[in-house]
Amino acid sequence: MPFNLPGILVPFHLLVHPRLVLPAIVVKGQTQHYKDIRQIDFPALYSAGYRGAVFDKDNCLTVPHEDRLVPELVDAWRECRETFGPDNVLIVSNTAGSHLDIGSIEAESVSHHLSAPVLRHSALKPSYACINAVRAYFASLPRPVRDDELVVVGDRLFTDVVMANRMARRPAPRTPAPSRSGRPASGSARTAR
Ligand SMILES: [Mg+2]
Repeated sequence: MPFNLPGILVPFHLLVHPRLVLPAIVVKGQTQHYKDIRQIDFPALYSAGYRGAVFDKDNCLTVPHEDRLVPELVDAWRECRETFGPDNVLIVSNTAGSHLDIGSIEAESVSHHLSAPVLRHSALKPSYACINAVRAYFASLPRPVRDDELVVVGDRLFTDVVMANRMARRPAPRTPAPSRSGRPASGSARTAR
């Protein structure tokens, strides 16, 4: 596991805001094998107004250190991408696409095997720099997605859940006026695709 200073500092933030580690939804199942994204009703989330999803990679979509989707999740993953749209489902990992992924080799491989963009970011989850990179990505879409239209799926409280709750607690500043290209005038988002 990489050294993650933003994650190490989370307990200090919890002293002020202990609810940061509380997930909105916990996936439950009959057996250990079914506590995964197959339990998520993506069409229902879309009907409720959600328009995009952020996914952690390890232990949510793949086995750690592997780039291929867990075979049992193929149908659920396809349904998720078809529901929100292929560009509206973003993988944000503290391995693939991070500064530890030299040359973005793992990000390219994961993006290929999972048919989804992988965020390239220099700061690890749950840092605000990483949050800004996520926001920049969704703001760059033809139909921008706001924080309150995003679902964040992850297995770690101190990274995925804290990141989601920080996004909810501290809304993004007003979206800058679009440039002539239709993209925001500031902010940057790089993905492997
Ligand atoms: Mg994980």
